[in-house]
Amino acid sequence: MPIDATQPYDDQNVFAKILRGEIPNKTVYEDQWALAFHDINPQAPFHVLVIPKGPYVSWDDFSAKASADEIAGFVRAVGTVARDAGLVEPGYRLLANVGQHGHQEVPHLHVHIFGGRQMGAMLPR
Ligand code: 5GP
Repeated sequence: MPIDATQPYDDQNVFAKILRGEIPNKTVYEDQWALAFHDINPQAPFHVLVIPKGPYVSWDDFSAKASADEIAGFVRAVGTVARDAGLVEPGYRLLANVGQHGHQEVPHLHVHIFGGRQMGAMLPR
């Protein structure tokens, strides 16, 4: 079920549990601002999720409330993960689902990084 992007942060969401180490994950990158790990149900040969360390429900919440350092750190982490995976030359896709129409399912901001194959058209019609 997609979430309501205006809901308050729920610290029992699955990515909050991953950040606290309560649920295992396959980490590919971590720094003070972000954690990146393989999606449990990959949609491409490379499918990694990058999440901020802070408690932000969605891109909307993060872009409105995060500090400049948090935003810079998170954006740099997304770029670093893709670059370190060798995705820049072949290319890759970023996706951040927000709320109901975006079909966001986990209420902690995450950016999907997809790579390793031709992604095709941006959206199904
Ligand atoms: P959304 O639809 O919210 O943008 O994407 C949520 C993503 O989180 C999905 O691609 C889903 O496979 C992934 N996911 C959900 N639960 C877990 C989990 O426990 N571990 C990992 N690694 N990924 C998860």
